[in-house]
Amino acid sequence: AKQSGENAVCFYDPSMDQMARERNILAMDMRAGLRRGEFELYYQKQNDTLTGEVIAFEVLLRWRHQTRGMVSPVEFIPIAERNGFINELGEWVLRQACMEAASWRNPLRIAVNVAAPQLADMSFPAKVRDILGASGLPAERLELEITETGIVADQQRALVIIRQLKEIGVKIAMDDYGTGYSSLSTLLTFPFDKIKIDRAFVDGVPTSAQSAAIVRSTLILASSLNIPVLAEGVETDEHIAFLREEGCRQVQGYLFGKPGPRAGIEEIVNGLTET
Ligand code: C2E
Ligand code: CA
Ligand code: CA
Ligand code: CA
Repeated sequence: AKQSGENAVCFYDPSMDQMARERNILAMDMRAGLRRGEFELYYQKQNDTLTGEVIAFEVLLRWRHQTRGMVSPVEFIPIAERNGFINELGEWVLRQACMEAASWRNPLRIAVNVAAPQLADMSFPAKVRDILGASGLPAERLELEITETGIVADQQRALVIIRQLKEIGVKIAMDDYGTGYSSLSTLLTFPFDKIKIDRAFVDGVPTSAQSAAIVRSTLILASSLNIPVLAEGVETDEHIAFLREEGCRQVQGYLFGKPGPRAGIEEIVNGLTET
């Protein structure tokens, strides 16, 4: 029940209340869900635009909740970031992904998402080193995807951590490029090995002049900095035609494949066809 003070100013909204309750339930269920094996890694291809070859897989987390069914990471990752569980969950993802990739016959790279709280943890580089060591995965086969929001809280600390990660030999990608407050200055401050253009911009090409301008200028800038670019959310022939034309060498999106469970990538990672 709401307090009378809130009722008095008419802020009471039963649907908001319901949403907050749902979030609380999810927050409490996470730890048990991880123990019960409800979390699973999905994989999405990253392709070379010229050869069409698969060059890597992005690892995307899924939660098959025992009563709620599939819960989207868009829903549960922010909750995990707020309740502090993301560090444990993120470490689990990293360990699973590295063990999995280390077992592939085809030595493709994996890209793993890293959340803000993980990049604020000074012991994160040591954890990454331990996980690589335990799994046997060579460091250069691991790419960590970092968003601008993941480094704004404490830029200095994030920079120290990212440098240590690069010393270990892992690659660092800037995720969701173009959506932050100052993507350009972030790009110039941090030693990124890759730029991932957000799908919001890819979705607009070639018709939106604004999206086209952002994609083009990002490609030109990245090329002058010698940083490879990957375009996210490539869904149509028009998207890929524009990107090829503008010299974007890496793509990821439904046009090439949706994220799917481990079984679906068996052919590519263990098949006899060399890529
Ligand atoms: P993201 O890192 O930007 O991942 C790309 C998202 O775009 C994925 O959504 C993917 O399924 C979706 N996507 C890929 N290609 C297309 C396309 O052609 N069209 C459209 N419409 N969408 C496409 P997903 O898997 O739901 O993940 C959403 C977000 O959740 C991710 O965005 C990432 O921020 C977060 N996330 C997922 N797994 C993890 C994780 O293990 N750790 C952390 N920290 N965050 C994660
Ligand atoms: Ca990502
Ligand atoms: Ca992204
Ligand atoms: Ca995103």
